Amino acid sequence: MPRMSLLTMAILALFAALTLSPPHAGAQQPSRPGNSGVERLYVLYCGDIALTDASSFTPGASGPGALTVSCYLIKHEQDWLLWDTGIPDAIASMPNGQKSGAGNWTSRKTLMSQIAELGLKPSDVTYLALSHSHGDHVGNVDAFAQSTLVVQKAEYDWPLPNGKPRFDPAQKVIKVEGDRDFFGDGSVTLISTPGHSPGHQCLLVRLPKSGALLLSGDAVHTRANWDSHRVPERNFNVPQSLVSLDRMAAVVNDYNAQLWIGHEISEVPLRKYAPAYYE
Ligand SMILES: [Zn+2]
Repeated sequence: MPRMSLLTMAILALFAALTLSPPHAGAQQPSRPGNSGVERLYVLYCGDIALTDASSFTPGASGPGALTVSCYLIKHEQDWLLWDTGIPDAIASMPNGQKSGAGNWTSRKTLMSQIAELGLKPSDVTYLALSHSHGDHVGNVDAFAQSTLVVQKAEYDWPLPNGKPRFDPAQKVIKVEGDRDFFGDGSVTLISTPGHSPGHQCLLVRLPKSGALLLSGDAVHTRANWDSHRVPERNFNVPQSLVSLDRMAAVVNDYNAQLWIGHEISEVPLRKYAPAYYE
């Protein structure tokens, strides 16, 4: 191999970094015109949560409650981006579900079966983007070991109560700090909304026909919380959560976006689920 000058090596290193770096790391704000590389979005059913006390997530509510669990699969040109992975697929084969924290988790359909129904394999998912690291959002992360994780750095670096990391250090990861126009065309934008957890994020998706959707993650759990500008006391940081609600309201306003609240049970009949899709 011929000897290279330092300059040549520097240029090659820069080229490699540009080639390998996450898409459009520098772009922060989505461009306003809809020049969208995003083609379609599938809503996936990712479980149900029965609550003995609805007020554990909806302050002021009384009696038992129910939350749905939603995941979303987005096709962007050559890439598939999965947003959240729901409760563990193993629960679908447990007749009484599984108790977890404030609720009982059940599932009538696995995430894997829904992905397979679309003719896809987990390894087809280029990017696995996560709103945050709670168990009802990361239940099937292990099945996507070949995908690149997309999480806020603050979430990635937040240790579990036992001090262990939340994510497999061997998995490829893009650690995001703040907002990011992920594909650089304004079609899919991570919106930093900390508070429910240290590095919570929402996802703004601007579809060619359906328009802008803001996927809530757990920045808001229920429509009642949104309407009353409230968050659960169990959140990691309540004042920060309220600031994030304001940020979401600004995004909804700026992009004339629909807010889709992933846990809101009353939204289930309003959605088309995979294999149907939004474009
Ligand atoms: Zn959560």
